[in-house]
Amino acid sequence: MKSLEMKSIHKHLSIWLVVAVAAVALLPLPDFWIYQANYIGIYAITCLGLVLLTGVLGLTSFGQAAFVGIGAYSSAYMTLNLDLSPWVSLLLGLSLTAICALVIGLITLRMSGHYLPLATIAWGLSLYYLMGNIAALGKYDGLHNIQSLSIAGLDLGQGRVFFVFLWCCLILLIKACSNFLDSRLGRAVRSIKSGTQMPQAMGIDTFYCKVLIFCFAALLASFAGWLLAHFQHAVAPSDFGLKMGIQYLFMSVLGGVGYLWGAVIGAGIYKLLDDQLQVLLPVLIGTSGSYEVIVFGIAMVLILKYLPDGIASLMGQEHTTHHDPAQWKGAKALAEHAPSPSGEVVLSVENISKTFGGLVAVNGVSFSIKAGEIKGLIGPNGAGKSTTFNLITGLLRVSSGAVSFRGQRIEHLSLREIAHLGMSRTFQHVKMIPQMSVLENIAIGAHRRASAGVLAAVLGRDKDEEMSIYRMAHEQLLRVGLGDYMNEPAGNLPMGPQRLMEIARALCSNPSLLLLDEPAAGLRFQEKNELARVILSLKQQGLSVLLVEHDMDLVMKICDSLVVMEFGNVLVEGTPQEIQNNAQVRAAYLGEEH
Ligand code: ADP
Ligand code: MG
Repeated sequence: MKSLEMKSIHKHLSIWLVVAVAAVALLPLPDFWIYQANYIGIYAITCLGLVLLTGVLGLTSFGQAAFVGIGAYSSAYMTLNLDLSPWVSLLLGLSLTAICALVIGLITLRMSGHYLPLATIAWGLSLYYLMGNIAALGKYDGLHNIQSLSIAGLDLGQGRVFFVFLWCCLILLIKACSNFLDSRLGRAVRSIKSGTQMPQAMGIDTFYCKVLIFCFAALLASFAGWLLAHFQHAVAPSDFGLKMGIQYLFMSVLGGVGYLWGAVIGAGIYKLLDDQLQVLLPVLIGTSGSYEVIVFGIAMVLILKYLPDGIASLMGQEHTTHHDPAQWKGAKALAEHAPSPSGEVVLSVENISKTFGGLVAVNGVSFSIKAGEIKGLIGPNGAGKSTTFNLITGLLRVSSGAVSFRGQRIEHLSLREIAHLGMSRTFQHVKMIPQMSVLENIAIGAHRRASAGVLAAVLGRDKDEEMSIYRMAHEQLLRVGLGDYMNEPAGNLPMGPQRLMEIARALCSNPSLLLLDEPAAGLRFQEKNELARVILSLKQQGLSVLLVEHDMDLVMKICDSLVVMEFGNVLVEGTPQEIQNNAQVRAAYLGEEH
């Protein structure tokens, strides 16, 4: 119920914003405040991009102001010198921004850790000095006498009319971003922040997602720049330097970088405080100077310490959408691939090895799995079971040997490519998005079976497909017995149900082969029986399962055959009965004397 209440707060926010915009437009407020509200709207559009980039995707950028600059300068230059209409220069400016963002993104987005933020500082600085040194752009004085925007002869000016236009744009953009985050691609993007392994194992192209969001954020900034140029009637490099880049980041963090509304709240508070402090501080201190920068610095540290998710977090979770099975009652089922013919060799592992430095973690392992077979991989800790899993699924590259999946060699393919062929897995250490609901987490598994792109997502035209995805996710949720947890944030689940959720997510991708790494760890007796029932029902449908598990009762009960590993080698392979009676296994694995 919690998520429902939270959702409604945010739903009400959009209504309140529309009411507030109408009120500001109609009330006889002093022009000064309208002017300030226009700055807030422009800043908020830039921050909206930062929310997606930094808050949702987890990439910190100090360079957003540079993209504002590209939008502002290109429109200013083209309207002043080429006599183009601002609407034409908007399109050209956005195109130029897209090209720049694409080039910068393709080069820098493969960087990890602190290298990317450093790179954003680098291009933030370079663009600033570039703008300041080009004579045609007026060097550090910038460009002046830029025309106002007008629509069908109506001059938007700098006051109320511009305000209504700007804030309508902002509201529509918030709606578009919200639609996007609730879509198939949006879920994919949200799943990347806590690591790329799980999304890739679900068939998500994580690099594409990063480039996409990077360009999207740059386009929002560029649009804000276009508005700024025609609102101020002037542009200068100082509006787009590194200092401004840091301030955009500050606004977003202040408002709540994980929340779309955080962009508006942050921009609003920042602008209002900035104005007051610029007047007040010099009076208090007695000399003139940019003292507000010091106050913002201190405020940033305090916010990061005491309210790291920003002011919007006080209003609760935004993106945890409440779902009701009635929504997808009439939805079409997602297409399923034909099951493998019974007896077909689904997976064939031939003599694979993996070394880590001097350590041989997997040493010449071979086995195969037929359609409808459940194979157990057992052995003491450190035997190389998880590494074998990682080699099969493409998370690690084999040092030597071959892996074939449904007749195709796959040892050179990536995790994502292998996922697309119909192999799905869970992880020994559960990988999930804690803030997302259980149902949404499971829906990530269906990514590869759907196709809605950015445009459909932004315009909210993907709802039929979304309902099919949720119908599938809900079926898998019920199948693993998690019906009661549907709308619960996944992070609230105990360990056992989290593992079941991972299995449901893997099943959502309609795999031919399912790899489960210690699925019963942390499960209670009843849950283990339930798990055994689920795995056996998969076998009935022709699915093959490779299972790493320490619970011998479970393994002996459900597996058709077992591979026992020790020190990276296959010790013995056979039926559960044969393994139980094997003296070598009893000695090595169960610690019994010969
Ligand atoms: P299991 O899953 O059977 O407990 P693992 O496959 O996790 O065993 O580990 C096998 C051996 O490989 C262990 O000795 C482990 O320390 C080592 N190992 C696993 N992954 C790595 C890695 N990324 N780098 C170095 N050593 C590793
Ligand atoms: Mg392991």
